[in-house]
Formats: sequence, C-alpha cells, structure tokens
Amino acid sequence: MIERAPLSSSGPTQTPLCGGETVQPAAAPFRFEISARSGRNRARCGCFHTPHGVVTTPRFMPVGTLATVKGVSAAQLADTGAQMVLANTYHLHLQPGEAVVAEAGGLHRFMGWSGPLLTDSGGFQVFSLGGINKIDDQGVVFRSPRDGARIELTPERAMEIQMALGADVAMAFDQCPPYPASEADVAAACRRTHGWLERCISRHSRPDQALFGIVQGGCFPQLRAESARVVASMNLPGIAVGGVSVGEPVEEMHRIVRQVGPLLPEDKPHYLMGVGSLREMAIAVAEGFDLFDCVLPTRLGRHGTALVEGERWNLRNARFRHDHSPLDPSCPCPTCRHHSRAYLHHLIRSEELLGRTLLSLHNLTHLIRFTTAMGRAIADGSFAEDFAPWEANSPAAHTW
Ligand SMILES: [Zn+2]
Repeated sequence: MIERAPLSSSGPTQTPLCGGETVQPAAAPFRFEISARSGRNRARCGCFHTPHGVVTTPRFMPVGTLATVKGVSAAQLADTGAQMVLANTYHLHLQPGEAVVAEAGGLHRFMGWSGPLLTDSGGFQVFSLGGINKIDDQGVVFRSPRDGARIELTPERAMEIQMALGADVAMAFDQCPPYPASEADVAAACRRTHGWLERCISRHSRPDQALFGIVQGGCFPQLRAESARVVASMNLPGIAVGGVSVGEPVEEMHRIVRQVGPLLPEDKPHYLMGVGSLREMAIAVAEGFDLFDCVLPTRLGRHGTALVEGERWNLRNARFRHDHSPLDPSCPCPTCRHHSRAYLHHLIRSEELLGRTLLSLHNLTHLIRFTTAMGRAIADGSFAEDFAPWEANSPAAHTW
C-alpha cells in the first residue's frame, strides 16, 4: 500500500511513486526512500514519508506563510499537485498565536490541509524583517511589527511554538546573515546556528514531527563545508541549505549549490530554502537537492503575472485582449483548462480577486509540474545535466 496525502491530486502532476513497500507509520513516521538515480549527476527521485502522507521528490512546495497560500483554498491547492505546504512560525506566533492553532487541533485542522506541512522556524523573518532589539547566543529580542510588544525568540521557544503548531516538519532556529556580510560575521552566525541547533534538538520532543537542520555559511566555501559537516553530524531526518536567494548574484547561488550538494548526507532529503525558479531548481536537482519553496508564484499571480514557457507574461498587456486561447495549452491546471487569456486579461484589468487566484493556481502548477517532470526524467534515465526545457535544443523541452 502506498500512503498518500488525502487532499493531494492524483492527476497528471504526480511523480512516479515508490512501489510495493509497506508503510509502518508507528515504527518509522519519517523515511526517505530513493527510487531512482541519474547516472550522470547526483539527481535522484524518491519518497519522503510523513505522518500526513508521502512527498514525492523532487518537489516544489507552495508557501502558505499565514496558514494560507494567498488567495488559494486548500481544495484548489490540491488541484495544483501540491504535496507538502509551508507555513511560517514567526508570522503564526504573532497572529493568531500558536495557542489558537493548537486549540483547533493543530495546523492541519486549522487550515484544512490534510497533507504534509512544514513550518519554517522564523529565524529568517526575525533577521530579515528588522526591529531587532538584541541578539546574542541566548536568542533574539525584537518588537512585534503588529503591536510593538517585546518578543523573545530562542531555539527552545521556536521548538515549543512549532511543536504546538504541529506541522510534519519543523525547521531549526538559525541565524541567516544578510548579503553581503563579512566573513567574520558569517562565521559568528554559523557558530551560533550550530549551538542553537543542539538546543533545538534537546528541546524538540514530538515523535510525529521531523526536525530539519539548516546549513549556513554565506558565500564562503570553508564556512559552508564546516556547516554542512556539523549539521550532517546531527543525523536528523532531513537537512536544509539556507542563506541562499538572499540577494547574492545568481552565479554565487549556483556555486554554493554545486559545492554544498555533494556534502549532504546521501540518505536524507535535501531542502534548498527559498529557491523556486526553473533554472535554479534544475541545477540544484542535478546536485542532489529534493525540496524547494518560493513565494514567487503566488506573488507574481497577485500582480497579474503568469509563468508561461519559461517567461513572465503580464496579463494586463493589451496583446491578450482578444486572445481567446488557453493561458498555456500544455498546462493541466484548472485555469488553463477552463479560461482564456482574454478572460484573465479582463479579470486582472478589472482588479477582480478571481484573476489573482487563477494566476496563482497556474503559477503553482507550473513549478510543481516542472519538478514532477524532473522526477520522471530521473526515473526514465533521461535527466541530464542540461535539463533545461526553456532551451529549444534541450531534450527536456519535449518531456513536460
Ligand atoms: Zn495552467
């Protein structure tokens, strides 16, 4: 029997599942099985088993910061082929507060998503949204952007909040330095992140929730190598690479991905945080990364932009006014099946909420089916280092 997320689509966006095995959630709620590997690089496809279903990898994960993927209902989300969905500890702690979520029976029930969930620790938001009063080895003190209240976040507190929220995967509380930062500052943030990881592990105690560690190290190869070594030595059920897509040049990100990918423990899922563009996901999959997230598909959708054929189309553009063809004829999403470019143009021009929702649904589907296509290519043995469907001469142009 294959365990699946009840709300997940079984439509054309699914990757091949690991077959045949018996799932034993009581004994091993989290298992990662690699079902196929590319012969020419580190790409692999597999199944990450969680208490709320299986995540087939590689897989793009929609971001639902405030327990909602903006503008998209849980039922609509299932139609995009989404499996694991993200929510954010920092934002949910501020509003409505983890007590309200726990009272509802946990995040799955609160937001009506019965598939796998992951909560980010809030470390990235604390350090990127400002308002920090104090930071030291103990933790971070900041002012709530909502009401100015003094809030202290420590590794222990981040674990308590995430355990109360009850997602399938919790992320370690880390310090993500801004870009650019000096080597000394990044080294200090790494030391702190590693110390905090040990405290996260000591406090985390939910057997039905996996804790993932986060590799930091900025753009400094020796710090990345040391961080990967330390975090891998903790032997957690999954490992993430953070501190990318924080403003560094894209070539730097590629370099980090190519350096760190091979340093991660082979038998664990590898999560590249905050990355969700086609090219960058393809490069990372070739280095053995499995999971991705990015706010871009819904943010672009809300602004009237669609991801089509590797380009960004602004649906406000007058060229769509009389265009009654589907947004992307090759796309299986409800937007492309039922609506035309002219209708979407009209909705966006009229500031109708439905237009934003339909574009968000399409954009999410676009990224998810791209990761699904990579999984199929790996399983078929046709995933090559140059998996690049946006390039006319790529074999992958014909496979998704
Ligand atoms: Zn579509």
